[in-house]
Amino acid sequence: MTLFDSPAFEGHEGVHAFHDEKSGLKAIIAVHSTARGPAAGGCRMWPYPTAADALEDALKLSRAMSYKNAMADLELGGGKSVIIGDSRTQKTPALFEAFGRAVQDLGGKYWTAEDVGVSVADLTHARRQTRFVAGLEGHPAASGDPSPVTAEGVFRGVRLCVQRALKRDLDGVRVAIQGVGHVGGYLAQKLHAAGAKLVITDVNAELLRRVAAETGAEIVAPAAIFDVDCDVFAPCAMGGAVNLDTLPRIRARIIAGAANNQLADAETGQEVFRRGLLYAPDYVINGGGIINVAGEIRALERDEAFDAAWVDAKLDRLALTLEEVLEQALRERRPTHEVANEIARARIAGAAEKRAAA
Ligand code: NAD
Repeated sequence: MTLFDSPAFEGHEGVHAFHDEKSGLKAIIAVHSTARGPAAGGCRMWPYPTAADALEDALKLSRAMSYKNAMADLELGGGKSVIIGDSRTQKTPALFEAFGRAVQDLGGKYWTAEDVGVSVADLTHARRQTRFVAGLEGHPAASGDPSPVTAEGVFRGVRLCVQRALKRDLDGVRVAIQGVGHVGGYLAQKLHAAGAKLVITDVNAELLRRVAAETGAEIVAPAAIFDVDCDVFAPCAMGGAVNLDTLPRIRARIIAGAANNQLADAETGQEVFRRGLLYAPDYVINGGGIINVAGEIRALERDEAFDAAWVDAKLDRLALTLEEVLEQALRERRPTHEVANEIARARIAGAAEKRAAA
């Protein structure tokens, strides 16, 4: 299979590979669409076993960003970058400066920000080489860590799903969270404050103990999270958590979490629907972080200070969009992810037509 035949390619505008010998940077920047505006999406650092794995991840994540930005009603297209390497041992300022030069090479077609394995401090190094970096701290337009805003959006989405599928509020609802990192940790705190009973897991034992102590959560081993007796399964680690192997073990009525690309493939999405589970499409429910990042891009482009009220209004709008997706899926008896994909594609196509006509 060539790059252009790959199912993940799906109409990408550009796929760019970068190598910097001195710093050891090996990175891919995928730009899926700029129809709605410059592509925006975070940078992930991960020890991919092969370059093909990195490419596939970049393509899937980049396409999801196009859909996410469209559903969050942002004037941004979709893109994503991946750096091949171990974030615990291979990070250096030179590596992120080289990454910043790669972003600069695209001349503003792509804005980067944090994702798994990449922190605000890392991006500060990239910022020395390019202005197309958001999610920073310490300047008036800065939006800081997007994770709390992502968690707030996911929290609202979980509550909405519980209200719709279980006809109750969060008090006493059992939620199993896979991954209590940046987003999962904040989500655990919010759910705990709302009275939910938590079961959590993470491959980072120290983090796991800390979040459990803060939230009274029960701890289970990573492999056991799929078997937990719960109402909501919240994937907040890596993609592909819901697949044809794990799905039969999931006892929740609802799947709603922060992770990108939660469904391993289209077949799994169909099976989730067939089993009668309510699935909150990942790129809709987890759009809070990119809304926060978009607030910074908007402020930088206008030379203004960051406007938290603009972000709040977009977050409210996102909750309504999720409700519209769930409502339409119920009405038409269709899987929620199919309905969301359709709406996102129509929004992107509409923007492309408008641009072509201009
Ligand atoms: P993070 O790296 O801080 O947290 C992920 C956590 O998952 C880590 O603590 C890690 O140890 C754990 N983990 C990894 N593999 C695991 C496994 N097999 N079982 C259990 N735990 C495992 O990342 P994050 O920023 O919290 O992002 C979490 C997910 O949400 C990612 O898929 C990310 O792409 C997505 N997301 C994040 C944001 C954001 O604002 N940070 C926005 C949208 C989507």
